[in-house]
Amino acid sequence: MRVMLDCSPRAFVETDVDAIAHNLRVAQQAAPGCQMIAVVKANAYGHGLEQVVRRLDAEHPAFFGVANVAEALRVQNAGCVTRPFLLGPSIPEEREVIAASDWGFTISSLEEADHYASLAAETHRVLPVHLALDTGMGREGFLPADLSATMEHLKHLPSLRVEGVMSHMPVADEDEVFSRVQIERFEHCVSEVALHAQLRYVHLAASAGLLNFSIPCANMVRPGLMLYGVSPVPSVWSDQLRPTLRLRAAVTLVRTLPANHGVSYGRCFLSTRPMRVATIGIGYADGWRRHLSCKQVFALIHGVLCPLLGRVTMDQIMADVSAVPEVRAGDFAELIGPLLRIEHLATQTGTIPWDILTGLGPRLPRFSRSFD
Ligand SMILES: *Cc1c(COP(=O)(O)O)cnc(C)c1O
Repeated sequence: MRVMLDCSPRAFVETDVDAIAHNLRVAQQAAPGCQMIAVVKANAYGHGLEQVVRRLDAEHPAFFGVANVAEALRVQNAGCVTRPFLLGPSIPEEREVIAASDWGFTISSLEEADHYASLAAETHRVLPVHLALDTGMGREGFLPADLSATMEHLKHLPSLRVEGVMSHMPVADEDEVFSRVQIERFEHCVSEVALHAQLRYVHLAASAGLLNFSIPCANMVRPGLMLYGVSPVPSVWSDQLRPTLRLRAAVTLVRTLPANHGVSYGRCFLSTRPMRVATIGIGYADGWRRHLSCKQVFALIHGVLCPLLGRVTMDQIMADVSAVPEVRAGDFAELIGPLLRIEHLATQTGTIPWDILTGLGPRLPRFSRSFD
């Protein structure tokens, strides 16, 4: 009996890391003079964190944006020169590790500030921090109304040094009026903080903010989605972004079903004629969303767009391959790629591209491959 040492996966993600690096350079051109936090949280938006940060490290962003300590450690262990930056507030259990690191991080409350200050004092360090401000997002940061009191409090914490100010935009992609007011509010806050602190980093914009607005007081941006080839808003830069991800899955079975035969749970699809049906080895357990059931969604097989049929099951989906007579078990179907756009899957399921990408599950191995 032959032992299989290396089993070939039924479904996998291919990432073009050079395309991500290209998209980072597009973000840089769209935000001239700004430093970059290249956002790589959530497994680099599903692309495979390690292979992405190893490639982007060569582009020398200021930081890699991550969501928690576990992701920061993965960046660090990947051997990058670029330091992680924790984008949101921390829980108390995380702070000892953060205070002992050289990572960038924010403070959003006096409780956080006091805790970091005492951890820093214990080790005789002065910790650089980014002051997070809530200028409209309602998720993190000090409220502008509390800023004076906050700065006063921070004066008594010599083991903390405010080197950055940051905030986040809730409607950069859909409400220009609110966003302009928010930018002004942010500018006021920045000038108040600048009276007390030597500011090295000032940042407000993620991808949509970066593409839609110029923010003169900022010298840093935090692009995420656009690095992965999806533009959150139409802009002059959108066409320059290159696709970065392919999702592929193996055909496991091909048969001809008679007319009026149900396909998948619920029998919500019935064949209208004798139909060649392929079973494909991917399902909602891989992040191919169950909400894609019975929608206008296609698989690309031998260059032909084949409609997917019926409900998505946990590990398998079905496609009409009547137009692809040569298809065999073991052939690969493409489900996301340059012709099968993430934006389309998002609209079909009533969600957003971020959700589709970050939902791609851990069962899918991530490989690096150039799409050119
Ligand atoms: C996720 C995140 C980003 C990146 O947002 P995109 O819309 O994907 O560009 C930027 N800043 C913060 C604080 C985030 O949490």
